[in-house]
Amino acid sequence: MFDIGSINIQYLAGIGPRKAAILKEELNIGSLHDLLYYFPYKYVDRSRIYLIREIDGNMPYIQLKGEILSAETIGEGRQRRWVAHFSDGTGIVDLVWFQGIKNVANRYKWHQEYIVFGKPTMYGGRVNIAHPDIDPASELKLTNMGLQPYYNTTDKMKRNYINSRAIEAMMQNAIKQLRDPLPETLTPTLLHTHHLMPLTEALTVVHFPTTPEQLRRAQYRLKFEELFYVQLNILHYATERQQKYRGYRFDTVGTLFNTFYAHHLPFELTDAQKRVLKEIRRDTGSGKQMNRLLQGDVGSGKTLVALMSMLIALDNGYQACLMAPTEILANQHYITICQLLAGMNIEVRLLTGSVKGKKRASILSGLLTKEIHLLIGTHAVIEETVSFAALGMVIIDEQHRFGVAQRARLWTKNLQPPHVLVMTATPIPRTLAMTLYGDLDVSVIDELPPGRKPIVTIHQYDAHRHTLYRTVRREIEKGHQIYFVYPLIKESEKIDLKNLEDGYGNICKEFSEYTVCQVHGKMKATDKDAQMQRFVSGEAQIMVATTVIEVGVNVPNASVMVIENAERFGLSQLHQLRGRVGRGAEQSYCILVTKFQLAEDTRKRIDIMVESNDGFEIAEADLKLRGPGDLEGTQQSGVPFDLKIADLSHDGQLLQYVRHIAEEIVADPAASLPENALLWKQLKVLQKNHANWAAIS
Ligand code: ADP
Ligand code: MG
Repeated sequence: MFDIGSINIQYLAGIGPRKAAILKEELNIGSLHDLLYYFPYKYVDRSRIYLIREIDGNMPYIQLKGEILSAETIGEGRQRRWVAHFSDGTGIVDLVWFQGIKNVANRYKWHQEYIVFGKPTMYGGRVNIAHPDIDPASELKLTNMGLQPYYNTTDKMKRNYINSRAIEAMMQNAIKQLRDPLPETLTPTLLHTHHLMPLTEALTVVHFPTTPEQLRRAQYRLKFEELFYVQLNILHYATERQQKYRGYRFDTVGTLFNTFYAHHLPFELTDAQKRVLKEIRRDTGSGKQMNRLLQGDVGSGKTLVALMSMLIALDNGYQACLMAPTEILANQHYITICQLLAGMNIEVRLLTGSVKGKKRASILSGLLTKEIHLLIGTHAVIEETVSFAALGMVIIDEQHRFGVAQRARLWTKNLQPPHVLVMTATPIPRTLAMTLYGDLDVSVIDELPPGRKPIVTIHQYDAHRHTLYRTVRREIEKGHQIYFVYPLIKESEKIDLKNLEDGYGNICKEFSEYTVCQVHGKMKATDKDAQMQRFVSGEAQIMVATTVIEVGVNVPNASVMVIENAERFGLSQLHQLRGRVGRGAEQSYCILVTKFQLAEDTRKRIDIMVESNDGFEIAEADLKLRGPGDLEGTQQSGVPFDLKIADLSHDGQLLQYVRHIAEEIVADPAASLPENALLWKQLKVLQKNHANWAAIS
């Protein structure tokens, strides 16, 4: 059968080896298949032709029909340009080229009818169109709708005359190759049940649409297929893994769990915590290996769920391990957990990068002899030298700091993989979670412990610092503690550190009667801990810090979070930071300090923060504002966001829809039906072409 994957584009009319090489290098387009699946990113309506006298200073892209009267090269150096004076009889516009001057000067003839397309601007009292698209009027062929497809191109492509128009021309030739329909990639049942356009038609229409309705249906078919296979891949992987690996069966909920529950728990669990614990007990008792993602907003009480899950493992004769992303956080977990378990016969140890020598050696041997039951630590716990006698449960806190590869290393710690619970307070929008962690089951703590007052968030301009200081002073007088947070990023580290130091100085002066401590990532770990400790103990009323305090740190007496240069933080980061307050019963405040002039996007971010306390809502908004590739955690996830046509921020509903379909196909014994063989075959093809698809784990 006709296989478009095996046809090299260099043999298509108008391409040739040189252009083919550039397309391969820049866009990884090698075959006819690759080319046809390179979709337009937009369509521009070119059904209307404007008159030059209609042009005003503020128009989007427009189309003119007329001829070049004369042309000249003017300017020197970087100002050098070729200007063609173009007229339709109602006025004159200047068409201007700064690049490829020789080429354009030779290409266009005077007094021939052209269609010019571009964005007009006013320059020196004349209308200019820089680097317009020009076609001889006799040659311009638009789609039946008058829509022109636009394709993304790179600088290098443009330099080599492969612009959007050139791709469009290639595409026209490519479509001509499709005289016979292509083999379908979805089954007749799927096509029929979900009213999907046949593949060949969809590929044709998406490049050269005939009606808006056809275009929509073509896009739907292609998005459906794309998302469907993403889900089929993940679900297939998850099922396979479950068949391959048995999980440890935790039969009993024993003495440790029950003793803790009855005598050590300082408060009643929330219903959400109880529900999640039930889910974990069901998983770990099933004989399958648990892979669960626990999402819960900051302060929702995930630590307790983690601890009680680990107790189930201990009750069944296994060890457990809790991994945190930073040393500060590991320390804090260690202290909290030791306090909660005081008086119970459980050996808990802390292992971080700074635990060395004899102490480390004794931990390593204690893990092998099973004298140590519960290990808490940082990345250090997954180093190769660390082995357990019987590791039954691993909890990964604040997962977005851990990459897929690090998670995968857990498998090598045992013959049989331990149960895994990944906890995160960066609520991942459902659509994204399904794509990123589609193989994990998801639990959600959607309830905060009782008695918490929603944090009040206020936006304040830099210039109104005195009001800010008044609020801060009032809170300190009530006996509360305050955070001041400054941004610190690598690219502007020097300036950022200086800002932090200046801020620290000012705050010390302003609040000279109080104690101020300071923590940032550039300090030695021991200094950091010492400063942190001053705040935790209540000795210092104010902490000036960078985002090192972002994750997990818990000081219930802190009631105000001031975020300086809030415009420089992302939404989820702001939400994380805000979560450091509001942990006690008192009213808490988050004050976002920004400069006066703000970009549109930034203002939206700040507004969302002021309006919403709901992490999921914020995460969804973040996804819409920034797109999935930029979301925290996704860069390291190992899952590529190279979706060609679907868009996670808009196609969430479709994603859920196709997930159900994929679930049925994976779960149903009919998966082995001849009809579905097509799907598995297609999945294999996709896995071969997407190296990272095969690696999802
Ligand atoms: P996070 O989910 O952000 O990790 P933590 O586990 O640190 O939250 O819990 C935040 C605070 O809430 C802690 O001080 C913890 O002791 C307290 N907490 C947890 N569960 C409950 C509960 N059911 N009732 C009251 N307080 C709780
Ligand atoms: Mg936590």
